[in-house]
Amino acid sequence: QADIAMYWAKEKGRDNAQVFAPEMATVVVKKFGFEQEMHEALAAGQFRLDYQPKVWMDSERIVGLEALIRWHHPTKGLISPADFIPIAEESNLIIKIGEWVIEEALRQQAEWREMGLRLVPIAVNISGRHLVLDSFVSYLSSKLEDYGVTGALLEIEITESVLLQDIDRCIEVMEALKAMDITISVDDFGTGYSSLSYLKRLPLDVLKIDQSFVEECGKHTEDTTICETIIHLARNLKLVTVAEGVETAEQAALLKQMGCLIYQGYYFYRPMPSLDTAALLDKAD
Ligand code: C2E
Ligand code: MG
Ligand code: MG
Ligand code: MG
Repeated sequence: QADIAMYWAKEKGRDNAQVFAPEMATVVVKKFGFEQEMHEALAAGQFRLDYQPKVWMDSERIVGLEALIRWHHPTKGLISPADFIPIAEESNLIIKIGEWVIEEALRQQAEWREMGLRLVPIAVNISGRHLVLDSFVSYLSSKLEDYGVTGALLEIEITESVLLQDIDRCIEVMEALKAMDITISVDDFGTGYSSLSYLKRLPLDVLKIDQSFVEECGKHTEDTTICETIIHLARNLKLVTVAEGVETAEQAALLKQMGCLIYQGYYFYRPMPSLDTAALLDKAD
């Protein structure tokens, strides 16, 4: 407990461990306990990927899938990524999780290929901390090779805030991903501190309009304008737009009118287990 107290004090930027309050120990122990549990959960195979289809504007044909992690906890039940990813992000655990997600998505592609299904790119969410890691590119290329999957069947989603931390490093990594034919998407676009100049410096393919704008699209002029502006910006920069969180026919119709190319949301499909996803991909189209 003394060590934890020191850690906490240090985290707070204080050099005096005496200021440590006992109730803080509980918080820290809980957090560390949770991290430890996540490590064990990885080893015990308690994580699963669900997949949410993305569809093309007119045909509504499935053109991609997003892999979304779920923790099937033996006693706590299903835990949402919103409840553990932020904690994992605070340590290198997020890298372990990211590697597991990449490997599982590629294993799934290889399995679906064996089953003769129509393959579409699987997008994985990668933390900024992981993206800029020295070993990230070599990890990806060795896993693609292990599973015999082409980079064209993999997409990396990263949030905007990442891009502003070390732009030169981001460019370097992304160029390497491009060379492997991997698609690069900016997730939750519009919620970061948009310095728009980075958009032209980075070899991006896709902007995903954040669901908060999509949700209010057609209801509030501001959000409608933001959606329209992002779509126009993307078109001028030769990027594809994906609207995420599309829940109604009205939203879809309005976004379509604005020229958005790809749609993801409960209105079309919810995230679903791999078996249901396979059944969808199996349907002739
Ligand atoms: P995200 O990458 O922006 O993913 C979209 C989230 O919106 C998903 O939540 C998805 O289930 C949800 N969603 C999709 N369509 C709709 C809709 O029509 N309405 C509403 N209200 N929600 C919709 P989920 O699966 O809970 O994931 C939440 C966040 O957790 C993700 O946001 C992503 O940031 C993170 N996450 C999920 N899986 C992973 C992962 O494997 N690795 C990392 N690093 N982060 C992940
Ligand atoms: Mg995402
Ligand atoms: Mg998003
Ligand atoms: Mg999000």
